[in-house]
Amino acid sequence: MTPTNARRTAGFLPPLPGPAGRRCRWLLIGLLLLPPVTAVVGSMATTGVPGSLVFSDPATWLQPLGSLTGILALAWLLLALMLSIRLPGLDQPLGGMLGLWRVHHYLGAAALLSALLHPLFLLLASAPQGPGATLALLQPMPRAWPLWTGWLALGLMLLFLAPSFQFFGRPAYQRWKLLHLLAGPAALIALAHGIALARWLSPQQAIVTWGLLGSLAAVAFFWRKGLSPLLARRPFQIDRADVLANGVIELTLSPLRRTIEFTAGQFVYLTPDIPELEAGNREEHPYTISSAPAELPTIRIGIKSLGDASWALQSVAAGERVYLEGPYGRFLSDPAHRPQLWIGGGIGLTPFVSAARQLSHIQADCDITLIYCANDITRAYYLRELQHIAEAVDGLRVIPHFYLDQGYLNAAFLRQAAADLDKREAYVCGPVALIELTEELLTRLGTPRGAIHTEAFDLL
Ligand SMILES: Cc1cc2nc3c(=O)[nH]c(=O)nc-3n(C[C@H](O)[C@H](O)[C@H](O)COP(=O)(O)OP(=O)(O)OC[C@H]3O[C@@H](n4cnc5c(N)ncnc54)[C@H](O)[C@@H]3O)c2cc1C
Repeated sequence: MTPTNARRTAGFLPPLPGPAGRRCRWLLIGLLLLPPVTAVVGSMATTGVPGSLVFSDPATWLQPLGSLTGILALAWLLLALMLSIRLPGLDQPLGGMLGLWRVHHYLGAAALLSALLHPLFLLLASAPQGPGATLALLQPMPRAWPLWTGWLALGLMLLFLAPSFQFFGRPAYQRWKLLHLLAGPAALIALAHGIALARWLSPQQAIVTWGLLGSLAAVAFFWRKGLSPLLARRPFQIDRADVLANGVIELTLSPLRRTIEFTAGQFVYLTPDIPELEAGNREEHPYTISSAPAELPTIRIGIKSLGDASWALQSVAAGERVYLEGPYGRFLSDPAHRPQLWIGGGIGLTPFVSAARQLSHIQADCDITLIYCANDITRAYYLRELQHIAEAVDGLRVIPHFYLDQGYLNAAFLRQAAADLDKREAYVCGPVALIELTEELLTRLGTPRGAIHTEAFDLL
Protein backbone atom coordinates (compact mmCIF):
# COMPACT_ATOMS: atom_id res chain seq x y z
CA MET A 1 0.00 0.00 0.00
CA THR A 2 1.42 3.44 -0.92
CA PRO A 3 0.26 6.86 0.25
CA THR A 4 -1.11 7.52 -3.25
CA ASN A 5 -3.65 4.72 -3.08
CA ALA A 6 -4.44 5.39 0.58
CA ARG A 7 -8.05 6.53 0.83
CA ARG A 8 -10.61 7.08 3.57
CA THR A 9 -12.06 3.79 4.72
CA ALA A 10 -15.72 3.82 5.74
CA GLY A 11 -16.38 3.11 9.40
CA PHE A 12 -12.95 4.29 10.58
CA LEU A 13 -11.84 7.70 11.78
CA PRO A 14 -9.07 9.39 9.80
CA PRO A 15 -5.78 9.64 11.70
CA LEU A 16 -5.35 12.82 13.72
CA PRO A 17 -2.54 15.10 12.57
CA GLY A 18 0.20 14.33 15.11
CA PRO A 19 -0.03 12.14 18.20
CA ALA A 20 -2.97 12.73 20.51
CA GLY A 21 -0.73 12.50 23.56
CA ARG A 22 1.11 15.63 22.50
CA ARG A 23 -2.16 17.50 22.10
CA CYS A 24 -3.29 16.42 25.60
CA ARG A 25 0.00 17.68 26.97
CA TRP A 26 -0.46 21.10 25.32
CA LEU A 27 -4.04 21.41 26.53
CA LEU A 28 -2.91 20.49 30.03
CA ILE A 29 -0.05 23.01 29.94
CA GLY A 30 -2.47 25.67 28.64
CA LEU A 31 -5.07 24.98 31.33
CA LEU A 32 -2.43 24.87 34.06
CA LEU A 33 -0.89 28.17 32.95
CA LEU A 34 -4.15 30.02 32.34
CA PRO A 35 -5.14 30.64 36.00
CA PRO A 36 -1.71 31.76 37.33
CA VAL A 37 -1.06 34.05 34.38
CA THR A 38 -4.57 35.55 34.60
CA ALA A 39 -4.27 35.93 38.38
CA VAL A 40 -0.88 37.66 38.26
CA VAL A 41 -1.77 39.92 35.32
CA GLY A 42 -5.18 40.70 36.89
CA SER A 43 -3.66 41.54 40.27
CA MET A 44 -1.02 43.76 38.69
CA ALA A 45 -3.72 45.57 36.73
CA THR A 46 -5.81 46.25 39.84
CA THR A 47 -3.29 46.66 42.66
CA GLY A 48 -0.17 47.63 40.66
CA VAL A 49 3.18 45.88 40.20
CA PRO A 50 4.25 44.43 43.56
CA GLY A 51 7.34 46.42 44.44
CA SER A 52 7.86 45.27 47.98
CA LEU A 53 8.62 41.54 47.45
CA VAL A 54 11.98 40.81 49.10
CA PHE A 55 13.17 37.21 48.75
CA SER A 56 15.10 37.27 52.04
CA ASP A 57 11.99 38.52 53.89
CA PRO A 58 9.32 35.76 53.80
CA ALA A 59 6.75 38.14 55.31
CA THR A 60 6.60 39.97 51.95
CA TRP A 61 5.90 36.92 49.76
CA LEU A 62 4.15 34.34 51.95
CA GLN A 63 0.87 36.26 51.95
CA PRO A 64 0.76 36.78 48.13
CA LEU A 65 1.78 33.16 47.66
CA GLY A 66 -1.07 32.13 49.94
CA SER A 67 -3.52 34.16 47.84
CA LEU A 68 -2.12 32.83 44.56
CA THR A 69 -2.34 29.16 45.62
CA GLY A 70 -5.94 29.76 46.73
CA ILE A 71 -6.83 31.25 43.34
CA LEU A 72 -5.09 28.38 41.54
CA ALA A 73 -6.84 25.71 43.60
CA LEU A 74 -10.27 27.16 42.84
CA ALA A 75 -9.56 27.83 39.15
CA TRP A 76 -8.14 24.35 38.53
CA LEU A 77 -11.01 22.72 40.41
CA LEU A 78 -13.53 24.59 38.23
CA LEU A 79 -11.63 23.76 35.02
CA ALA A 80 -11.55 20.07 35.99
CA LEU A 81 -15.30 20.21 36.59
CA MET A 82 -15.88 21.81 33.19
CA LEU A 83 -13.93 18.99 31.53
CA SER A 84 -16.07 16.37 33.24
CA ILE A 85 -18.92 17.21 30.88
CA ARG A 86 -19.48 14.20 28.65
CA LEU A 87 -20.59 15.09 25.16
CA PRO A 88 -20.05 12.77 22.18
CA GLY A 89 -17.52 14.37 19.85
CA LEU A 90 -16.01 16.77 22.37
CA ASP A 91 -13.26 14.28 23.17
CA GLN A 92 -12.18 13.82 19.54
CA PRO A 93 -9.55 16.59 19.18
CA LEU A 94 -7.80 15.19 22.26
CA GLY A 95 -7.61 11.68 20.89
CA GLY A 96 -10.65 10.41 22.81
CA MET A 97 -12.23 10.25 26.21
CA LEU A 98 -9.23 8.71 27.90
CA GLY A 99 -7.07 11.69 26.85
CA LEU A 100 -9.70 14.07 28.19
CA TRP A 101 -9.89 12.16 31.47
CA ARG A 102 -6.10 12.32 31.80
CA VAL A 103 -6.19 16.13 31.59
CA HIS A 104 -9.13 16.20 34.07
CA HIS A 105 -7.15 13.95 36.45
CA TYR A 106 -4.02 16.15 36.38
CA LEU A 107 -6.09 19.31 36.90
CA GLY A 108 -7.63 17.65 39.96
CA ALA A 109 -4.15 16.82 41.28
CA ALA A 110 -2.95 20.39 40.71
CA ALA A 111 -6.07 21.74 42.47
CA LEU A 112 -5.56 19.50 45.50
CA LEU A 113 -1.88 20.36 45.83
CA SER A 114 -2.60 24.12 45.65
CA ALA A 115 -5.49 23.76 48.09
CA LEU A 116 -3.10 22.15 50.58
CA LEU A 117 -0.41 24.79 50.09
CA HIS A 118 -2.87 27.70 50.35
CA PRO A 119 -3.54 27.51 54.13
CA LEU A 120 0.05 26.50 54.78
CA PHE A 121 1.42 29.71 53.25
CA LEU A 122 -1.22 31.82 55.00
CA LEU A 123 -0.47 30.21 58.37
CA LEU A 124 3.25 30.83 57.91
CA ALA A 125 2.54 34.42 56.85
CA SER A 126 0.50 34.98 60.02
CA ALA A 127 3.23 33.62 62.34
CA PRO A 128 5.10 36.94 62.81
CA GLN A 129 1.86 38.52 64.13
CA GLY A 130 1.85 36.10 67.05
CA PRO A 131 0.03 32.87 67.99
CA GLY A 132 -3.34 34.67 68.18
CA ALA A 133 -3.34 35.40 64.44
CA THR A 134 -2.37 31.82 63.56
CA LEU A 135 -5.02 30.42 65.91
CA ALA A 136 -7.66 32.66 64.34
CA LEU A 137 -6.89 31.05 60.98
CA LEU A 138 -6.77 27.53 62.36
CA GLN A 139 -9.84 27.88 64.53
CA PRO A 140 -11.85 30.80 63.19
CA MET A 141 -14.59 32.44 65.26
CA PRO A 142 -18.00 30.83 64.66
CA ARG A 143 -19.16 33.89 62.75
CA ALA A 144 -16.09 34.08 60.49
CA TRP A 145 -17.88 32.00 57.83
CA PRO A 146 -15.54 32.91 54.94
CA LEU A 147 -12.72 31.13 56.81
CA TRP A 148 -14.85 28.15 57.76
CA THR A 149 -15.90 27.70 54.13
CA GLY A 150 -12.23 27.44 53.17
CA TRP A 151 -11.56 24.63 55.64
CA LEU A 152 -14.79 22.89 54.68
CA ALA A 153 -13.98 23.02 50.96
CA LEU A 154 -10.49 21.66 51.66
CA GLY A 155 -11.94 18.80 53.74
CA LEU A 156 -14.37 17.89 50.95
CA MET A 157 -11.61 18.04 48.35
CA LEU A 158 -9.50 15.67 50.41
CA LEU A 159 -12.45 13.33 50.77
CA PHE A 160 -13.30 13.04 47.10
CA LEU A 161 -9.83 13.42 45.58
CA ALA A 162 -7.77 11.21 47.90
CA PRO A 163 -9.28 7.97 46.42
CA SER A 164 -8.55 9.21 42.86
CA PHE A 165 -4.87 9.23 43.71
CA GLN A 166 -5.22 5.95 45.58
CA PHE A 167 -3.87 7.41 48.85
CA PHE A 168 -5.48 4.51 50.70
CA GLY A 169 -5.22 1.79 48.03
CA ARG A 170 -7.49 1.14 45.05
CA PRO A 171 -11.08 2.13 45.90
CA ALA A 172 -14.22 0.25 44.79
CA TYR A 173 -15.29 1.94 41.57
CA GLN A 174 -18.90 2.78 42.50
CA ARG A 175 -17.89 4.15 45.92
CA TRP A 176 -15.25 6.27 44.19
CA LYS A 177 -17.87 7.59 41.77
CA LEU A 178 -20.27 8.47 44.61
CA LEU A 179 -17.54 10.26 46.54
CA HIS A 180 -16.65 12.18 43.39
CA LEU A 181 -20.12 13.79 43.50
CA LEU A 182 -18.76 15.87 46.40
CA ALA A 183 -16.89 17.87 43.75
CA GLY A 184 -20.08 19.89 43.19
CA PRO A 185 -20.62 21.06 46.82
CA ALA A 186 -16.84 21.48 47.29
CA ALA A 187 -16.67 23.85 44.31
CA LEU A 188 -19.72 25.83 45.49
CA ILE A 189 -18.30 26.27 49.00
CA ALA A 190 -14.86 27.12 47.63
CA LEU A 191 -16.46 29.73 45.36
CA ALA A 192 -18.15 31.40 48.36
CA HIS A 193 -14.79 31.41 50.15
CA GLY A 194 -12.94 32.79 47.11
CA ILE A 195 -15.45 35.59 46.48
CA ALA A 196 -15.73 36.63 50.15
CA LEU A 197 -11.98 36.76 50.66
CA ALA A 198 -10.84 38.04 47.24
CA ARG A 199 -7.84 40.28 47.80
CA TRP A 200 -6.61 40.93 44.29
CA LEU A 201 -9.98 41.77 42.79
CA SER A 202 -12.68 44.23 43.81
CA PRO A 203 -15.86 42.52 45.14
CA GLN A 204 -17.64 43.21 41.83
CA GLN A 205 -14.73 41.84 39.77
CA ALA A 206 -14.55 38.76 42.01
CA ILE A 207 -18.28 38.09 41.60
CA VAL A 208 -18.11 38.44 37.80
CA THR A 209 -14.91 36.39 37.33
CA TRP A 210 -15.67 33.55 39.72
CA GLY A 211 -19.37 33.70 38.87
CA LEU A 212 -18.59 33.13 35.17
CA LEU A 213 -16.19 30.23 35.80
CA GLY A 214 -18.54 28.78 38.41
CA SER A 215 -21.51 28.93 36.03
CA LEU A 216 -19.61 27.08 33.30
CA ALA A 217 -18.60 24.39 35.81
CA ALA A 218 -22.19 24.20 37.11
CA VAL A 219 -23.55 23.73 33.58
CA ALA A 220 -21.07 20.88 32.98
CA PHE A 221 -21.94 19.24 36.32
CA PHE A 222 -25.68 19.66 35.84
CA TRP A 223 -25.59 18.26 32.30
CA ARG A 224 -23.48 15.28 33.32
CA LYS A 225 -25.40 14.31 36.45
CA GLY A 226 -28.89 15.68 35.77
CA LEU A 227 -29.68 16.01 32.08
CA SER A 228 -27.49 13.53 30.21
CA PRO A 229 -29.06 10.42 31.87
CA LEU A 230 -32.43 11.70 30.61
CA LEU A 231 -31.48 13.17 27.24
CA ALA A 232 -28.34 11.39 26.03
CA ARG A 233 -29.19 7.75 26.75
CA ARG A 234 -30.93 5.76 24.02
CA PRO A 235 -33.03 2.65 24.71
CA PHE A 236 -32.03 -0.65 23.09
CA GLN A 237 -33.54 -4.12 23.31
CA ILE A 238 -31.41 -7.22 23.79
CA ASP A 239 -32.03 -9.45 20.76
CA ARG A 240 -29.48 -12.13 21.62
CA ALA A 241 -27.10 -12.93 24.46
CA ASP A 242 -24.42 -15.31 23.16
CA VAL A 243 -22.08 -16.95 25.64
CA LEU A 244 -18.59 -16.81 24.11
CA ALA A 245 -16.73 -18.48 27.00
CA ASN A 246 -17.04 -18.89 30.74
CA GLY A 247 -17.71 -15.35 32.05
CA VAL A 248 -17.85 -13.71 28.62
CA ILE A 249 -21.04 -12.81 26.77
CA GLU A 250 -21.80 -10.90 23.60
CA LEU A 251 -25.04 -8.92 23.50
CA THR A 252 -26.77 -8.09 20.22
CA LEU A 253 -28.85 -4.95 20.66
CA SER A 254 -31.40 -3.29 18.43
CA PRO A 255 -32.51 0.32 18.94
CA LEU A 256 -35.99 1.03 20.28
CA ARG A 257 -35.68 4.57 18.94
CA ARG A 258 -32.57 6.00 17.23
CA THR A 259 -29.37 3.97 17.05
CA ILE A 260 -25.87 5.29 17.77
CA GLU A 261 -23.56 6.03 14.84
CA PHE A 262 -19.99 5.07 15.66
CA THR A 263 -16.66 4.16 14.12
CA ALA A 264 -14.57 1.05 14.86
CA GLY A 265 -12.79 1.28 18.22
CA GLN A 266 -15.30 3.57 19.95
CA PHE A 267 -17.15 2.78 23.18
CA VAL A 268 -20.51 3.50 24.77
CA TYR A 269 -21.82 3.68 28.33
CA LEU A 270 -24.27 0.84 28.91
CA THR A 271 -26.93 1.16 31.63
CA PRO A 272 -29.16 -1.88 32.19
CA ASP A 273 -32.84 -1.29 32.87
CA ILE A 274 -33.51 -4.78 34.27
CA PRO A 275 -34.92 -4.66 37.82
CA GLU A 276 -34.30 -8.42 38.31
CA LEU A 277 -30.56 -8.00 37.70
CA GLU A 278 -28.60 -9.19 40.75
CA ALA A 279 -26.22 -6.23 40.64
CA GLY A 280 -25.53 -3.06 38.72
CA ASN A 281 -29.04 -2.24 37.52
CA ARG A 282 -29.18 1.43 36.41
CA GLU A 283 -25.40 1.63 36.82
CA GLU A 284 -23.54 2.90 33.76
CA HIS A 285 -20.34 1.16 32.61
CA PRO A 286 -18.21 1.75 29.53
CA TYR A 287 -18.02 -1.00 26.89
CA THR A 288 -16.40 -1.00 23.47
CA ILE A 289 -18.70 -1.78 20.56
CA SER A 290 -17.61 -5.09 19.06
CA SER A 291 -19.84 -5.03 15.98
CA ALA A 292 -18.97 -3.35 12.70
CA PRO A 293 -20.40 0.10 11.88
CA ALA A 294 -21.74 -1.62 8.74
CA GLU A 295 -24.09 -3.68 10.96
CA LEU A 296 -25.96 -0.59 12.16
CA PRO A 297 -28.64 -0.11 13.42
CA THR A 298 -27.71 -3.29 15.33
CA ILE A 299 -24.92 -2.97 17.90
CA ARG A 300 -22.99 -5.81 19.54
CA ILE A 301 -21.08 -5.57 22.81
CA GLY A 302 -18.76 -8.19 24.32
CA ILE A 303 -18.77 -8.19 28.12
CA LYS A 304 -16.37 -10.02 30.41
CA SER A 305 -17.22 -10.58 34.05
CA LEU A 306 -14.68 -8.40 35.88
CA GLY A 307 -16.78 -7.35 38.86
CA ASP A 308 -20.32 -7.50 40.22
CA ALA A 309 -22.09 -5.47 37.49
CA SER A 310 -20.37 -7.18 34.54
CA TRP A 311 -20.90 -10.54 36.28
CA ALA A 312 -24.65 -9.88 36.61
CA LEU A 313 -24.86 -8.99 32.91
CA GLN A 314 -23.79 -12.54 32.04
CA SER A 315 -27.32 -13.70 32.86
CA VAL A 316 -29.39 -11.22 30.81
CA ALA A 317 -31.85 -12.57 28.27
CA ALA A 318 -33.38 -11.58 24.94
CA GLY A 319 -36.19 -9.05 25.24
CA GLU A 320 -34.64 -7.12 28.15
CA ARG A 321 -33.74 -3.47 27.87
CA VAL A 322 -30.54 -1.45 28.23
CA TYR A 323 -29.64 2.19 27.55
CA LEU A 324 -26.58 3.23 25.56
CA GLU A 325 -24.87 6.62 25.58
CA GLY A 326 -22.11 7.68 23.22
CA PRO A 327 -20.12 7.07 21.18
CA TYR A 328 -16.89 8.13 22.87
CA GLY A 329 -13.22 7.48 22.33
CA ARG A 330 -10.84 7.57 19.46
CA PHE A 331 -8.69 4.48 19.55
CA LEU A 332 -8.34 3.08 16.02
CA SER A 333 -7.83 5.02 12.82
CA ASP A 334 -8.20 4.43 9.11
CA PRO A 335 -6.22 1.27 8.20
CA ALA A 336 -5.87 2.48 4.60
CA HIS A 337 -3.57 5.21 5.86
CA ARG A 338 -0.57 3.15 7.05
CA PRO A 339 0.38 -0.47 7.77
CA GLN A 340 -0.79 -1.32 11.27
CA LEU A 341 0.02 -3.70 14.10
CA TRP A 342 -2.84 -4.57 16.44
CA ILE A 343 -2.16 -6.26 19.77
CA GLY A 344 -5.15 -7.29 21.86
CA GLY A 345 -5.30 -9.20 25.13
CA GLY A 346 -8.41 -10.89 26.60
CA ILE A 347 -11.53 -8.74 26.34
CA GLY A 348 -9.25 -5.99 24.99
CA LEU A 349 -9.80 -7.62 21.60
CA THR A 350 -13.22 -5.95 21.19
CA PRO A 351 -12.04 -2.82 19.30
CA PHE A 352 -10.10 -5.03 16.86
CA VAL A 353 -13.08 -7.38 16.46
CA SER A 354 -15.21 -4.38 15.47
CA ALA A 355 -12.56 -3.19 12.99
CA ALA A 356 -12.02 -6.67 11.48
CA ARG A 357 -15.78 -7.17 11.13
CA GLN A 358 -15.94 -3.79 9.37
CA LEU A 359 -13.12 -4.77 6.98
CA SER A 360 -15.00 -7.94 6.10
CA HIS A 361 -17.96 -5.76 5.06
CA ILE A 362 -16.12 -3.11 3.07
CA GLN A 363 -13.16 -5.07 1.62
CA ALA A 364 -10.74 -2.12 1.98
CA ASP A 365 -7.01 -2.03 1.23
CA CYS A 366 -5.12 -2.84 4.39
CA ASP A 367 -1.87 -4.21 5.76
CA ILE A 368 -2.62 -5.30 9.30
CA THR A 369 -1.05 -7.85 11.62
CA LEU A 370 -3.21 -8.71 14.63
CA ILE A 371 -1.55 -10.47 17.56
CA TYR A 372 -4.28 -12.14 19.61
CA CYS A 373 -3.06 -12.65 23.20
CA ALA A 374 -4.92 -15.12 25.42
CA ASN A 375 -4.02 -17.52 28.22
CA ASP A 376 -4.81 -20.53 26.01
CA ILE A 377 -7.06 -21.52 23.14
CA THR A 378 -10.12 -21.90 25.41
CA ARG A 379 -9.87 -18.21 26.34
CA ALA A 380 -9.37 -17.02 22.73
CA TYR A 381 -13.12 -16.66 22.20
CA TYR A 382 -12.97 -14.38 19.14
CA LEU A 383 -10.06 -16.23 17.47
CA ARG A 384 -11.99 -18.51 15.13
CA GLU A 385 -14.14 -15.71 13.79
CA LEU A 386 -11.10 -13.45 13.30
CA GLN A 387 -9.18 -16.19 11.46
CA HIS A 388 -12.21 -16.70 9.26
CA ILE A 389 -12.36 -12.98 8.47
CA ALA A 390 -8.59 -12.93 7.75
CA GLU A 391 -9.07 -15.65 5.11
CA ALA A 392 -11.47 -13.34 3.29
CA VAL A 393 -9.77 -9.97 3.83
CA ASP A 394 -6.56 -9.39 1.85
CA GLY A 395 -3.86 -7.87 4.00
CA LEU A 396 -5.23 -8.96 7.42
CA ARG A 397 -3.16 -11.57 9.30
CA VAL A 398 -4.12 -13.00 12.69
CA ILE A 399 -1.40 -14.49 14.89
CA PRO A 400 -2.39 -16.07 18.21
CA HIS A 401 -0.14 -15.91 21.25
CA PHE A 402 -0.92 -18.20 24.19
CA TYR A 403 0.66 -17.14 27.44
CA LEU A 404 0.41 -20.58 29.11
CA ASP A 405 2.36 -22.21 26.21
CA GLN A 406 4.64 -19.39 25.10
CA GLY A 407 5.17 -17.24 28.20
CA TYR A 408 5.18 -13.45 27.99
CA LEU A 409 5.12 -11.73 24.62
CA ASN A 410 8.74 -10.99 23.69
CA ALA A 411 10.82 -9.10 21.13
CA ALA A 412 11.57 -12.20 19.02
CA PHE A 413 7.85 -13.01 18.71
CA LEU A 414 6.99 -9.45 17.70
CA ARG A 415 9.85 -9.26 15.17
CA GLN A 416 8.70 -12.51 13.60
CA ALA A 417 5.07 -11.33 13.49
CA ALA A 418 5.96 -8.09 11.69
CA ALA A 419 9.47 -7.35 10.47
CA ASP A 420 8.79 -3.69 9.64
CA LEU A 421 7.81 -2.53 13.13
CA ASP A 422 9.43 0.87 12.58
CA LYS A 423 6.93 1.60 9.78
CA ARG A 424 3.74 0.41 11.46
CA GLU A 425 1.20 2.30 13.49
CA ALA A 426 0.73 0.13 16.61
CA TYR A 427 -2.53 -0.19 18.58
CA VAL A 428 -2.53 -2.08 21.88
CA CYS A 429 -5.57 -2.83 24.04
CA GLY A 430 -5.76 -5.15 27.04
CA PRO A 431 -4.63 -5.48 30.64
CA VAL A 432 -2.32 -2.72 31.90
CA ALA A 433 0.60 -5.19 32.27
CA LEU A 434 0.32 -6.23 28.61
CA ILE A 435 0.18 -2.59 27.51
CA GLU A 436 3.27 -1.66 29.51
CA LEU A 437 5.20 -4.68 28.25
CA THR A 438 4.37 -4.12 24.58
CA GLU A 439 5.06 -0.38 24.80
CA GLU A 440 8.53 -1.16 26.08
CA LEU A 441 9.16 -3.92 23.49
CA LEU A 442 7.88 -1.89 20.54
CA THR A 443 9.95 1.15 21.48
CA ARG A 444 13.01 -1.10 21.73
CA LEU A 445 12.23 -2.58 18.30
CA GLY A 446 12.09 0.82 16.62
CA THR A 447 8.38 1.78 16.61
CA PRO A 448 8.32 5.56 17.21
CA ARG A 449 6.63 6.50 20.53
CA GLY A 450 4.11 8.66 18.67
CA ALA A 451 3.05 5.64 16.58
CA ILE A 452 2.08 3.55 19.63
CA HIS A 453 -1.56 3.98 20.69
CA THR A 454 -2.87 2.22 23.77
CA GLU A 455 -6.21 1.78 25.50
CA ALA A 456 -6.65 0.23 28.93
CA PHE A 457 -10.21 -0.64 29.98
CA ASP A 458 -9.76 1.34 33.15
CA LEU A 459 -10.69 4.95 33.87
CA LEU A 460 -9.46 5.19 37.47
C1 LIG B 1 -12.94 2.70 27.43
C2 LIG B 1 -13.34 1.39 28.05
C3 LIG B 1 -13.81 0.37 27.25
C4 LIG B 1 -14.17 -0.86 27.83
N1 LIG B 1 -14.62 -1.86 27.02
C5 LIG B 1 -14.96 -3.05 27.56
C6 LIG B 1 -15.44 -4.13 26.74
O1 LIG B 1 -15.56 -4.03 25.51
N2 LIG B 1 -15.77 -5.28 27.35
C7 LIG B 1 -15.64 -5.47 28.72
O2 LIG B 1 -15.97 -6.53 29.20
N3 LIG B 1 -15.18 -4.48 29.50
C8 LIG B 1 -14.86 -3.27 28.96
N4 LIG B 1 -14.41 -2.27 29.77
C9 LIG B 1 -14.30 -2.51 31.22
C10 LIG B 1 -15.65 -2.38 31.88
O3 LIG B 1 -16.07 -1.04 31.89
C11 LIG B 1 -15.52 -2.85 33.33
O4 LIG B 1 -15.16 -4.20 33.31
C12 LIG B 1 -16.80 -2.76 34.06
O5 LIG B 1 -17.13 -1.41 34.23
C13 LIG B 1 -16.63 -3.47 35.40
O6 LIG B 1 -17.68 -3.13 36.25
P1 LIG B 1 -18.08 -4.12 37.45
O7 LIG B 1 -19.05 -3.40 38.33
O8 LIG B 1 -18.43 -5.42 36.92
O9 LIG B 1 -16.72 -4.31 38.20
P2 LIG B 1 -16.08 -3.46 39.36
O10 LIG B 1 -15.53 -4.41 40.36
O11 LIG B 1 -16.98 -2.37 39.81
O12 LIG B 1 -14.91 -2.82 38.55
C14 LIG B 1 -13.79 -3.52 38.09
C15 LIG B 1 -12.89 -2.46 37.44
O13 LIG B 1 -13.54 -1.99 36.25
C16 LIG B 1 -13.36 -0.57 36.12
N5 LIG B 1 -14.68 0.07 36.13
C17 LIG B 1 -15.77 -0.30 36.83
N6 LIG B 1 -16.79 0.51 36.58
C18 LIG B 1 -16.34 1.41 35.70
C19 LIG B 1 -16.93 2.53 35.06
N7 LIG B 1 -18.21 2.88 35.25
N8 LIG B 1 -16.15 3.26 34.24
C20 LIG B 1 -14.88 2.91 34.03
N9 LIG B 1 -14.26 1.87 34.58
C21 LIG B 1 -14.98 1.14 35.41
C22 LIG B 1 -12.55 -0.11 37.30
O14 LIG B 1 -11.21 -0.06 36.90
C23 LIG B 1 -12.73 -1.19 38.30
O15 LIG B 1 -11.65 -1.31 39.16
C24 LIG B 1 -14.07 -1.04 29.23
C25 LIG B 1 -13.61 0.01 30.02
C26 LIG B 1 -13.25 1.21 29.45
C27 LIG B 1 -12.76 2.32 30.32
